[in-house]
Amino acid sequence: MSKRVMVVDDSRLVRVQLGDVLEGTDYEIAAYCRSGEDAIAQYDEVNPDLVTMDIIMTGMDGLDASEIILKKHPDARIVMISSLAYDDTYKRAESIGVKGFIDKPFHREQLLKIFQQALG
Ligand SMILES: [Mg+2]
Repeated sequence: MSKRVMVVDDSRLVRVQLGDVLEGTDYEIAAYCRSGEDAIAQYDEVNPDLVTMDIIMTGMDGLDASEIILKKHPDARIVMISSLAYDDTYKRAESIGVKGFIDKPFHREQLLKIFQQALG
């Protein structure tokens, strides 16, 4: 059975790219969210197996959104996808309980490997 992924990114281009990359894999996109607020609002209903979370978004950033989701759902599996990779970003992501980190631009193999690790 395919795993359901909730994609959170304020860039339409990145949302489309993720959809393309996951086409034909064991992952299906269950929902697209354009903001952290949207992700928090949709998480309960979508109940995804995995979330990909952008960091820099208009409004709430991906780290704050992840923290709120993980407080409510400690078993949520969230991987960050971002071109912003400062040490303190990694540290904060780790302390929140994020399962992985994918740098933009991402590649299919790298993405699938980190998804697998996050679900394992
Ligand atoms: Mg962004």
